[in-house]
This record gives sequence, structure tokens and C-alpha cells, in this order.
Amino acid sequence: GARGSTGLLNMEGALVARDKVGIQDFVLLDETTETAFMENLKKRFDKDLIYTYIGALVVSVNPYKDLDIYNSNQMDLYMGVNFFELPPHIFALADTVYHAMMLELNNHFILISGESGAGKTEASKKILQYYAACSPETDLLTSVRDKMLMSNPVLEAFGNAKTLKNDNSSRFGKYMDIQFNKALGGHILNYLLEKSRVVHQNHGERNFHIFYQLVEGGEEDLLHQLGLERDCLYYNYLTQGECAIMSSINDKNDWKTVKNALKVIEVSESDRTDLFGVVASVLHLGNVEFDPDSRGNASLDNNTELRWLLGVNAQTLQEGLTYRKIRAQQDQVLSPFNIDHAIYVRDALAKAMYGRTFTWLVRQINESMENKDDTMKMVIGLLDIYGFEVFYVNSFEQFCINYCNEKLQQLFIQLTLKSEQEEYEAEGIEWEAVQFFNNKIICDLVEERHRGIISILDEECLRPGDATDLTFLERLEEKMGDHPHFVTHRLADITTRKTLDRGDFRLLHYAGEVTYCVVGKRDRHTQHTERLMGQSKNAIVREVFCNADADSRRRPETVATQFKSSLLKLTESLLAKDAWYVRCLKSNESKKPGVLDEALVRHQVKYLGLMEHLRVRRAGFAYRRRYEVFLQRYKALCPATWPHWLGLPMDGVQVLVQHLGYMPYEYKMGRTKIFIRHPKTLYATEDAFER
Ligand code: ATP
Ligand code: MG
Repeated sequence: GARGSTGLLNMEGALVARDKVGIQDFVLLDETTETAFMENLKKRFDKDLIYTYIGALVVSVNPYKDLDIYNSNQMDLYMGVNFFELPPHIFALADTVYHAMMLELNNHFILISGESGAGKTEASKKILQYYAACSPETDLLTSVRDKMLMSNPVLEAFGNAKTLKNDNSSRFGKYMDIQFNKALGGHILNYLLEKSRVVHQNHGERNFHIFYQLVEGGEEDLLHQLGLERDCLYYNYLTQGECAIMSSINDKNDWKTVKNALKVIEVSESDRTDLFGVVASVLHLGNVEFDPDSRGNASLDNNTELRWLLGVNAQTLQEGLTYRKIRAQQDQVLSPFNIDHAIYVRDALAKAMYGRTFTWLVRQINESMENKDDTMKMVIGLLDIYGFEVFYVNSFEQFCINYCNEKLQQLFIQLTLKSEQEEYEAEGIEWEAVQFFNNKIICDLVEERHRGIISILDEECLRPGDATDLTFLERLEEKMGDHPHFVTHRLADITTRKTLDRGDFRLLHYAGEVTYCVVGKRDRHTQHTERLMGQSKNAIVREVFCNADADSRRRPETVATQFKSSLLKLTESLLAKDAWYVRCLKSNESKKPGVLDEALVRHQVKYLGLMEHLRVRRAGFAYRRRYEVFLQRYKALCPATWPHWLGLPMDGVQVLVQHLGYMPYEYKMGRTKIFIRHPKTLYATEDAFER
């Protein structure tokens, strides 16, 4: 079927409600100006109506307060009801997607986008809750369902953190397939966890929630067993942001939720012990400090922390952190580290340990949610990925996060604006083109083979010898010098130059400018410590590091390249499914309930391309089907087409719709498909069909 094509407008409800609460579907606005759009949005927001449609797309504005619109009565209300009959809601979308899947027996996905703090994760949780609630009740199902729901608190504990933008910001990308057949099941793909947070947090930000939860909420004997103090301030890895304790976050309670959730998803008791062991080990590692010896090399005496690094011999580990053995002809030579290098190695180890454990956790969750019924599965994919973000200092991870948002915007453009217009053209339907900004140029700038930023980064990372952060920048300047979306200090005009440091480059993303700092973009190798971890007595650590040796033989792939290929794979899998969209808008920067900062929202409306989407939708046809399919479904409604139509399908459809009394302005006949302007027309047909 055509994408999002069950595109159901909410006509009647919208007309009735019009002036009191604004219009429920932007498609029905009198004018398609930004001002009219903003007025309607604000009118609704002021009445706590946070959802509005653009055709089948849901626009959602973060209210920053709990609204009583997600209870089970509300779920019941939306179950199986036509999209347009009730006020806009995320449940209405969930329900519509489900029925489209059952009707067409194909796969779908819901792309939830918006900047950090806009409400993507909340939206995806609501959708999952809805599907969990409407799945039929049997013992087996209930348990899979609980596991799916409980995967959220676990992944959030390990993968979310307080940032300046959001107290519960997702620091990893998540794509979840919800699988439907006789049973319910789920499968998660995780994308690039922001590992640098394990060892460093900017001012006003925290490490991943789980660290604080364990220290604050962990039981007395557990802390004792792990050698932990009940004091976040004691740990270097928890205090850099100077906000370890937050009134808005209840770590003690969350600890209980997470512990319980781990049981529900069937992480065994010994695995739980090992898992908390990893969390504790990271904290201890952060407190390992080095002193210079007489030659200025890093030394580490008698460090009490090390004995807690579960299951690796303290002496061996100490050696691993302070020097490397190099084989020179027959002999082994010790190459000592200076203090900086030792700290780098320590931090790299902490990051690797935490990052791989996170992946291990996702695997556990996937095993527990597996749909064991092997009849054909249909899926609804939910994509909730870290939102576009700009900080004062933006590093490699922001670069990846924003690149990912750029890709998703490109996908949206391809699937809606571009494909829609191309389809009209291909089908020979008369059509007035809508102008839009295509961000492909920025995607190419980042990912093009041999010429894009990632390729250049790869070359610089893999080049032996003298590559540094600054040679990387020079290479970028050489290749990108005149690109309209790329600037550096040297390339900038005088006014821009004042705002750029020498070690920075700036990208003009579709959502705004971001200045990236190149320092530390290149990974140094730390395989020797990784090998050490393969000897750990902690089963999780051993498991996640056991491949360190095997890896070293392959040509290393950089993190950026891995990320790029995983995004490419994701895009391909999405393109094979029918798309639905939730666009989340952040109402204000200070997380205040009920406040809508117009300039901020207007900016998001602009870069998310909502006005263009509206114009395309408004001028277009919400529903389309290939003639064969349409005829097959409805031929029983007309004596001339039932039971068999012997001519061309197109002619059959023409006879059929005339018989049904379609008015000329209600539909158009393309080369291979029939286009119907409003789904209302189709509903009338469906009703006749049901009778
Ligand atoms: P990030 O990209 O940083 O992960 P996000 O888009 O996933 O951001 P959320 O974590 O979903 O943002 O939302 C941020 C906060 O906003 C939530 O913790 C919650 O306090 C509030 N919020 C979001 N959506 C809603 C909603 N529908 N109702 C009430 N509060 C909400
Ligand atoms: Mg999130």
C-alpha cells in the first residue's frame, strides 16, 4: 500500500469543535500560514490539548505536566474507533496503525522525532502501553507483555541521563519491533550509546541514572559486598556535573523499580550480581589515581580501589593501567605511560566495560521478549532516537546524534514530500509543486564515500604516524572548503570567525548551526587492557570482552563508520515498511508546565518541515490504491464487477466508483492507481462493504 495512506482526516469532529478548542487537523485550517498554524497550536495547548493532526501525522507539544488522558478508560475509548471520530490522541494513531496492519497484512513503523526533551520517549512508551493493553489476555502473553513494558525502566536506567535539555534524556538510539501474530513479542536494536558520559559530564549534567540509583538506593549489604560508599560525592565519575543529587529525580525509588524490572525480564540472580558488579567497578575505576614516579611515568601504589575491580588480579590490572608490553625481537620491553596516557587508558576501559554491558543487557531483554510463535509475524516498529541537540561544547557524540537526526529528516522527506510529489507525477495526476528544503546535501557532506566527513575521519584515524586532531581539521578544510554548510575558523568571514575556535568546525544542520570540537575524535588503541578483562571472574565482563583478541586481527572499523552503516541498515529496513509519524515539539527550554515559547516552537515547526507537509497534504489525496487491489476489495459492491471483472482493472474501478456514486472531485484516476481525496469517501464505501 501507499505510505501512511490510510491517511485518515478527522473531519466531523474538527468541524464541530472548531472555535472552542481550535482545529483538530491542520489540514482544515483556512490558511496554511505559519501564523495560523501557531495560533491554532497555542489555542489547543492552552486547553491542554497537546495533540493535533496533519492528516495522519500526529503533532504533539510537551505539556511538562501529567495529563489524565492515558488511563485505561481512554485506551478503551480509542480501541477500534475511526481516527476522525475522537479528539486527536497518540492512542488513535497506535490504533489506526494496528488496524492498517491487520487489514493489509504488512509491516509498519512509527517514526517519532523532535529535539531533546520534546517528548519522544514518553510518546513511544504510551504507544507500547497501548499495544500491551489491547493484546488479548492469556498467561503466556501477559508475561511477554510485562517483559516488554519492563524493558523500559531497565534501558532507561542504563541508557538515560540528566542533561541540560532533559532530566531523562535518552543517550542511545532505540528501534523496537513490536511483533504480532498469535503471540506478542519484541526485538530491540540499540544504536551508539554516549559512552563518554561514563567518564565525563558537563556542568549541570549527570552520569547514567543507574550509578546514582545503586549508590542511593542499593541495600546495605549489597553496597558492602561491592565496596561502595553510600555517597555519590565520593565518586569522581559522578560529580563532575556538580548535580549528583536532583530534587526532580528520585533515585531511591527508581532503584526499586529497576531491580524489580530486572527480575521480570528474567535476568538471573547471579547475572544481576555481576551486572551491579560492573556498575560498581566503573565507579571504583574512576577513583583510581596515578602518581608520577621519578621519571614522570604513571605509577599506582597499593590502590585500595583496585581490589574491588571484580575478579581481575589487582597486580595485573595495575600493570595494565600503567604500561604496555611491546615485543621487540626476542624480548619483551615495557613501555610505561605518562599520567595522561594512564588516565586515558583507565577511562577507555571504564567506557568499554559499561558500553559492552549495555549491549549485553539489550541482548538479555531481547531473549526474554522473543516471540516464540513461528507463524508469520507482522511488526510495528517504533523508532525513538536521541533528538537533535546543541550544547556549549559539542563533541563526537553530538556529531553522531545530529547526523542521525539529519538522516531521519531525510527519510521523512523521501517518504512524504518527495515521494508524494513524484508519485503524482508518475501517475500523471495534475499537481502544483510545493517547495521544500532538502537536507540531502548535509547528509552527503557527512557520509559520502571518500569525500564525506566520516571518510576523512576514518583516513585520519587509520593513518599511522603523525595524524592529530588538527591535521584532521586541515584535511576537512581541504575537502570541504567551499561547501555551503561547512565552516571553520580559517574559512569563516570576519564576524563568524569571532565565534569559532581554531580547533572547531561548524555544520549548518537542517535544524540549526552546531559547532563541533575536533579534540579527541580519534580513538587510541587500548586493546591490552581489554584482553585483561577477558580473565575476569565477573561472568558478564568475561563474556563481553572475550572477543577482544579476535577483533584485533581485523582491520579496525571506526565508531563513526560503524554508526553510519548501522543507520544505513536501519533506513533500508524502514523503507520496506509503511511509515507513520509523530512530530514532538518542545514547548519551552525551562521545562515549565503550560508555557509555550512561541519563538522556540515556531523554529521547530519550521525545521521539521511541518508547513511543507501540511501544504502537500492539503493539496493532495489522502488515500490511494492500485487498481487491482481496490477492485479486489470492493468488487462485490457492484453487479458489473462481481464476481469477476474481465476487462482492465482500471476500467473496472471506473465502473465501480461510478456505481458507488463518487463525485468527480472526490477522486482521480492515475496510471496504475486510484487517488481519493478524503478518506470519508472511502469510509462510506467501507460501511457499504461491511453491510
Ligand atoms: P531526548 O531526545 O533527550 O531523549 P525526548 O524527546 O525523549 O528527549 P522525553 O524524555 O520523552 O523527551 O520527555 C522529556 C520530559 O518531558 C519527560 O520526562 C516528561 O517530564 C515531559 N513529557 C514529555 N511528554 C509528556 C507528556 N505527554 N505528558 C507529560 N509530560 C511529558
Ligand atoms: Mg528520549
